[in-house]
Amino acid sequence: MGKGVGAMKANKTEYQILSPVFEDCWNKFSAEFPHIPHPIMRIGKNKKTWGLCYGCTPAKISLSKALAKMPSKFQQHVIFHELCHIIYPNHRREFYDLLDHFDPTHQKQNDRTNERLARMEEMKKKVMEEMGKT
Ligand SMILES: [Zn+2]
Repeated sequence: MGKGVGAMKANKTEYQILSPVFEDCWNKFSAEFPHIPHPIMRIGKNKKTWGLCYGCTPAKISLSKALAKMPSKFQQHVIFHELCHIIYPNHRREFYDLLDHFDPTHQKQNDRTNERLARMEEMKKKVMEEMGKT
């Protein structure tokens, strides 16, 4: 057993971790862009970037090995970022508008706002009840 076997095994595990996340993101993405062919996902040795998107029909998306160790929300964030590059290769406004639409980290902010609003509603109700009692 050489070093290569171990490295290949590790590679497979990272692929196994990221592949279902990728498919999940892809399903959401392709629902709105049904004409785009399924991209090829690869695990790369990228050290400077979490992900890379290159080529076309089909696009190739290379994800950093390190991404497998990150929280799933962040994995989704990176995958959606790369998927959006299939539509916009740049980082202009349109790109971020599209990314915001899919990105779970953006969604989280909305969730937090909604939670806060719900809590305020609760508080308001309690205060109103208290006032009704007296
Ligand atoms: Zn980018």
